[in-house]
Amino acid sequence: MLEQKINEFFGDDEPGGFGTGWWSGVLSAFFGALAFGGVIVLHFPQLLSSPELRPHYTLQAIRILLQCVIAGALVFGVVSAMLRRKKVLAFTGMLLALGATLLGGASVEINEPLHDGMAIGLDWFLLDLLLMTLIFSPIEVLWPAYPKQSVFREEWLLDIVYFLSTHLPIQVTSFLILLPATELTRWLGIPSLVNAVGQLPWLVQFFLAVLVADLAEYSVHRLFHTVPWLWRFHAIHHSSKNLDWIAGSRSHLVDDVAVRGFMLIPMMFVFPHDMIVAYLFFVTIHATWTHCNFGPTLRWLEPVVILPRYHHWHHTSQEEAIDKNFAIHFPWIDRIFGTHYLPANDWPHTYGLHNEKFPAGFWAQTFYPFTRKQRS
Ligand SMILES: [Zn+2]
Ligand SMILES: [Zn+2]
Repeated sequence: MLEQKINEFFGDDEPGGFGTGWWSGVLSAFFGALAFGGVIVLHFPQLLSSPELRPHYTLQAIRILLQCVIAGALVFGVVSAMLRRKKVLAFTGMLLALGATLLGGASVEINEPLHDGMAIGLDWFLLDLLLMTLIFSPIEVLWPAYPKQSVFREEWLLDIVYFLSTHLPIQVTSFLILLPATELTRWLGIPSLVNAVGQLPWLVQFFLAVLVADLAEYSVHRLFHTVPWLWRFHAIHHSSKNLDWIAGSRSHLVDDVAVRGFMLIPMMFVFPHDMIVAYLFFVTIHATWTHCNFGPTLRWLEPVVILPRYHHWHHTSQEEAIDKNFAIHFPWIDRIFGTHYLPANDWPHTYGLHNEKFPAGFWAQTFYPFTRKQRS
């Protein structure tokens, strides 16, 4: 298995705490890979950068960012090489940074004007991976709920592939997500309602947006659990045996598109465009955070807003919590509908599917819902 080979090639048996050269080695390799990918995007911007994302960043900012990750890969590489006996991580990071520099580094010229059209969202993948890692990895390393769980736990590579699979075809997924909602609002939209809601104070609008979205999300999520052929898609999201921020991105494309598309329909009837964008930003951060291996909790806040411990109980394979906690923002929605489960202090002992066989690997899982169910 590829993941095992990578773990053996880069890993060793020495301790992995701070000051051992482990984290600096990991960071060096990570920054090196980002730098190399970034320079490749600069060489083929028409093909590898998504037109939807281009207006949201400047080339100048990307060049500075590239210089930072190249420098980061080199500095962390040197630190790791000095501290650690096995130097494969450090050398890989420095080699990738060197390769990125030799290919032109941050100063690759873009001579042609870029136009819209089909493209692969490699820029989106790299930028979002960097952003999410910067936000969530430090809190998972510093304050884990499960301290023994490594960042490179079982199936970490599979979850990177899932992250890749929703980011590269950004144009296809965003089109599929937006299409039903845009078409429906064109025929059934009520502009006066959108105007009236637009007059409310921003915070009230935002609260209503989160509430409407969560009610829609609750309904579609519960359907994915109760309708057997829909469950075959959603089972992929529940197959993770360890949770962390990237495990949250393990989800079948059909599941992802259906949930987000369904959520957008009521949103577009009621809220102005800006509010929907604000909500989409919020849901990405909040939903990712609730999957984090992050231990600290605020007891008084737990009944009001969903914290990681709550969504972790949704992912347990323990019988008492199966088909509970469908909401993603407000736990009291589950209370209203009788699907709330949260013991006083505990975290689940086991995660994953309950008594269910499930194929391993991205492609087998992607085709799994379309295969005939084997009778036992
Ligand atoms: Zn679920
Ligand atoms: Zn989840």
